[in-house]
This record gives sequence, structure tokens and C-alpha cells, in this order.
Amino acid sequence: MDHCARLSRKVGEVRVPKIGWVRFRWSRDIPACVKSYRVTRDRAGRRHVAFAVVPPPVDGPGTGEIVGVDRGIVVSAALSTGELLSVPGLRDGEARRLLRLERRLARARRESNRRRRLKVAVARLKARETDRRKDWVEKTSTSLARRFDVIRVENLNVRGMARSARGTVERPGQNVRAKSALNRSIQSAGWGRLVTRLEHKAPGRVEKINPAYTSQTCGACGHRAAENRKSQAVFHCRACGHRDHADVNAARNIAVGRTVTARGGSPMGRPVNREPQFVSSSPKRRVEISPTWGEDVIDSPTLRCGGRRAGR
Ligand SMILES: [Zn+2]
Repeated sequence: MDHCARLSRKVGEVRVPKIGWVRFRWSRDIPACVKSYRVTRDRAGRRHVAFAVVPPPVDGPGTGEIVGVDRGIVVSAALSTGELLSVPGLRDGEARRLLRLERRLARARRESNRRRRLKVAVARLKARETDRRKDWVEKTSTSLARRFDVIRVENLNVRGMARSARGTVERPGQNVRAKSALNRSIQSAGWGRLVTRLEHKAPGRVEKINPAYTSQTCGACGHRAAENRKSQAVFHCRACGHRDHADVNAARNIAVGRTVTARGGSPMGRPVNREPQFVSSSPKRRVEISPTWGEDVIDSPTLRCGGRRAGR
């Protein structure tokens, strides 16, 4: 590329239109296939240059293994294998500090130096949170793409609304409301990005499942009833007595593609006797992939050559 040059091991230079040559920290290798790049500024004032490359697909194990992934409220994601994953957000101390800073910011006089300083401090903490979330998404998507041949996720377009309206506070304690609101936003943002990255890394191996009733249906016998979901965290089947972590149970339903649609549904709550399907032969369960899904789809297939250059 003639718009990018490496000056030394750690320093590169990139040509930005209307600005000229700008140095950046060469944080990782840039493949030769790079065609474009963009310069962004995050909320903490850090500028990044991101070179667009399509990431090489990650090979699955080739064993035909299928996993279902459920976006949880209690944890960030539950796998049908029983694993519970959570996005590392801010630690308790950091979250408290953020809350304190935001309160002070609300009281600070407009256009004062104090206000400006507080804004920077708040932005830095929030950027830290975003960094951790993105890192988690990259690691998790690679790991899922490597471990499983088919990755089934819920189609969030349908469920997102229903769930967020239902969101409750699980545990009493300090700042729970602020924290749970924070966690929810982390989760929704992280989830969209996770699905997008999965589709990049495991092209053709990600399937979106209609999530209707996945949280009410028993993963063992298929019995569906609203009472099955005892609480946010516990699933207990009224028909067969099966007990499970509620999110894991939902993930198992997603893994077998067991969903009750309006057509094949059982409004009376009869057992849905549908065999687990390990081959995705049913086209009606496939959901079109929306190109605008996710937090920042345009920015996603990129390498980051980030640096802490400006905005301090
Ligand atoms: Zn059951």
C-alpha cells in the first residue's frame, strides 16, 4: 500500500486525506491484502486506524458438533453444553467510581474546567469497559467457531424487545439498579457484535433460530408451559421434573432448533414432540441475516492498529 508506511518496529505512518501523513503505533501486523482503512476517534479521545481485511475463516472441528447459544440476563451467554459465559465489564470498584464521577459531572458548572476533566475521566472508564467487551467478543467468537461446526443463536430481532421489557433486578445490594442497567446495555451491545463476528469467522455455520418459547420449553421432554420458568435463573419442568439453569435450558432448545412457531405451535401447552434435528434441513427456520445487525458492522472486519495518540 502506498498510503501506509512502516517507519520502525513500533511506528507506522498512514496518509489521511486532507491531513497528510499521520504516525501511529504499529500494534499488529498488517496483511498485504489490505485495501482500505479508516481512522476513528473513540469516546475517550483515542484515535485508531483500522485496516479492513476479511478475517480468514476459522476451521470447525469437522465432527458435526452443534452448539446453541442463548443470550441470558443472569449471565451474558449460556451454551447448550452447560457453560456460562459472562462479559467482563467494569469491576465493582470501577463501576462505583464511574457512578460517582457521573454524579459529580451532573453537578459541574457548564463549560468549566472541572466539567471538562470529569468528562474525560468518565469517557476513559467507559472506553475501558468497551475494550474489555470487544476483547471478550473476539475470544469467544473464535473459540466457538473452532469448537463447533454449527452455531445456533437466537434471532434477536424478535426476542430483544420482549426480554428487555421484562428485565428485573435479581439480587439486592448496592447500586444494583445502576449496575443492572449497565450490564444490560453491555450485554445487548456485546451480543450483536458476537453474532456478527461469528458470521465472519464461521461463514455458513451460524444459524439463527426463532427464539419463541425457548425459555418456557423443556429441553429434556419438550413440554412447554409458562410455569416451567420458575424464576430468572431456574427452569423446572412441570411434566417430567427436569431441572436446569434457565439460560442453559434455553440454549439447549436453540441447539436442537426446537422452536414453536405460530404454524406448528401448541397454544394449549401440549408437549411439542419434535425430534432434535442435527441437520439444518428445514429452510423455514433459517432466518435472513440482516446486514445492519450489530453495533458497528462496517467497522468489524478490521485489524486495529490502535494508539493513544491524541485527545489527552
Ligand atoms: Zn420436561
